[in-house]
Order: sequence, then C-alpha cells, then structure tokens
Amino acid sequence: MRAPLANLPIDRLHDPALVRIAGKLATGERLDRADALSCYQTGDLIGLGLLADAANRALHGDVVTFAANQHINPTNVCVLRTTCKFCGYARLPKEQGAYRYTMAQVLEEAAHAADGLTKEFHIVGGLDMQAGLAYYEEMFRALKANFPHVHIKALTAVEIAHIARIEKMSWTDVLIALKAAGLDTLPGGGAETFSAAVREQIAGKKLGGADYIGVHRAAHQLGIRSNCTMLYGHVETLEDRVEHLMMLRDLQDETGGFLAFIPLAYHPDDNELGATLGRRGTATGGTDDLRMLATGRLFLDNFLHIKSHWIMVSQALSQVSLHFGVNDLEGTVVREKIYHAVGAHTPQGMTLEQVLTLIRGAGKVPAERDSFYKVLRTFGDVRPPAPALFATHARESLQG
Ligand code: SF4
Repeated sequence: MRAPLANLPIDRLHDPALVRIAGKLATGERLDRADALSCYQTGDLIGLGLLADAANRALHGDVVTFAANQHINPTNVCVLRTTCKFCGYARLPKEQGAYRYTMAQVLEEAAHAADGLTKEFHIVGGLDMQAGLAYYEEMFRALKANFPHVHIKALTAVEIAHIARIEKMSWTDVLIALKAAGLDTLPGGGAETFSAAVREQIAGKKLGGADYIGVHRAAHQLGIRSNCTMLYGHVETLEDRVEHLMMLRDLQDETGGFLAFIPLAYHPDDNELGATLGRRGTATGGTDDLRMLATGRLFLDNFLHIKSHWIMVSQALSQVSLHFGVNDLEGTVVREKIYHAVGAHTPQGMTLEQVLTLIRGAGKVPAERDSFYKVLRTFGDVRPPAPALFATHARESLQG
C-alpha cells in the first residue's frame, strides 16, 4: 500500500473525480474500481499526469531506470497460430517463415552479450510442440554456461502452461525444472486482457486470465519474480481494463512477486483482428497510452515499477510518459521481432547512448538496473537536450 502523498497539486486539477482521487492519495486511502474508471475517462489528462507523477516521484524522484537487455525469440511455431487474432508473429510448423532455433543458433544470437553490456536475455516465442521442457532446459544451461553474468527472463505464463501440458507436468514442476536449468524470472507477456468475453473474441484458445494469474502465483511461491502486462487498445472496454488491474493488484497483495507492470499497446497491422476491425497504423492514441501508464501508477499502489515499452508506443511517447508516472523504460533490446511483425515503426533496438539521451531529454536521471531493479550505475552528470536522438533514428530508418 502507498504512503500518504504530500503537496499534491489539487488546485491545478479540473476534474472533480481527480480531486476526489487526490484526496485519497493524500490520506493513503486505496483507489477503488470507480477511481480507476475515472482515471481512464477523465478529460483532464494533465491533471491525471500530475497525480501519477507525484506518486512516482515519491518513490523514485527523478531517476528513470532501464536494463541492458537482449530479446531472443527461439521459435515462432505456435499451435495457436489461427486463434490468436492479434498476432502476426506465429507460424504453423510447415508454413513459410516458420523457424525454430537450434542451440547453436540461440548461442549465435546470444553472442551479442559478449559485449559485456547486456545483462538480461528476454526469451519468448510460440507454443511449439517440438519445444518442450528439454529444449528450454538445454537452452538455459547453454546460455548460463556461456554467459554466466546474464540473467534469464524467459517464457510467459502461456508458454509455461504449454510446456506443462505437453509434458503432462504441473506448472510448479515445470518451473522447478526450468529454475534448476537457469531460469531467473518470468516476463509478463500473454496476459492480453483477462476478460473472458474479450479473450473469446481475440484469443479464444489461449490460457485464461485466472490461469495466467495461477502460473504467476506458482512462480512467486517458488521465489521466481515476474512482470505483468495488459494488451490494450483492441476490443476491450474500460471496465475490462479495470478488472484486469484489479486481478493484478490482488495477486500482488497476496505474493508481492511482481516486479513491474507493463501496458502493451495493440498494433493492428498484419493480423486478423486488425483486418476485422478495419484498422491500420497505430491503434492506440498517445493520450490513451498515457492514461494506461498513469492509471497503472495510481491504481497499482503495491507495484514499485511502471514500465513504458518504447517499441510499442514510440520513443517520443515513452519520453513524455516519464512525466506520467513511469519510472522504467524498456531497455536496449538489440533485435525485437514480435511487435515488428504487426507493424511497429520503432527501431528494433537502441544503443546505450540513445537510451541515455531519451531519458536525459525528459529532464530525468538515467540509471542502469539489473533484472531485480537494483540500480547498477547512474548517469547523472550531463543532461544534453533530446533532439539528436530522433535525428539519429530518422537517419537509421531511412537507411533501412
Ligand atoms: S500471441 Fe503467442 S500464443 Fe498467440 S499465436 Fe502468437 S505466439 Fe502463439
């Protein structure tokens, strides 16, 4: 629970609902569903940002963290290829473009981590019948043997449940085996929106919301920390979003095992759902992205970290979000594939200098963290203006 917040800018709020919420923040009273809905609905976006910024500053001051991480997607073969309608990444086993890395290919891609900067592998992929427990055990052991300094954050709750199903094991036993092989934490993907009605429409056969929570609970009980997400901007209602946040907050009350909440913006290109909805380009707007992040900061009072995923919402929006309750940015990434398969226009990775420039451009102090959010070093010396970052990216995009 959050401590009472002092010096809230109540005289700058234009929406009575935000004044009510500020009153609760000032006394440490927990926000309820109606408050979360008001955050999503308010016309006073700046007021919402002021409150989220106050809540964030009370925890983190001006420090914004990031991890030097690398995404690895070892297989895009997925049994749910035809039922997850928002996905443009998955392929059927014999479909053109289908791939499954050998261990040699995993190590070849991971070789980037020999730069000494990368400290986390973020490993997710499809639900591949040929990628069972042994495949991932071998992978994690090989990665730990070759890159012992790199943390392994791998396999969404959906992938853990898939491995459990094909191996006829419990979630807990799969997690125990993977932990022994080198798994350190779980990423938060696969949550989508928990509402059963929404899931039926966008991902009818995917692990349900209660089971997503169940896998994370099992992980937390084993001492495996995790992140959590929400895919938004498709067919969900604002009430669906609130219920989703409530389920995350409840589990966090129970276990304290979540490290961060990461809203994920839906992208409509090159997937069936986007075609059905008749959408192209960016589905979410900047104001909706900011509301998602700010509401997460205010409602999830038992979460320390709210992360902006710059690959999905753009570097520019992520930079602005640092004034709307966000204290953590997706990191260097190196080569992102999943969101670029559905039309993300951002680069596939950023250099350390680009991440620093983005954070400094927001007037914040960059700090590199480890996967448990422990600050490893801060870069608080210089704060150059931001424009150079975007000029650099524009040049890179033009060069293809
Ligand atoms: S979203 Fe995940 S589970 Fe669904 S089809 Fe894509 S890779 Fe498979």
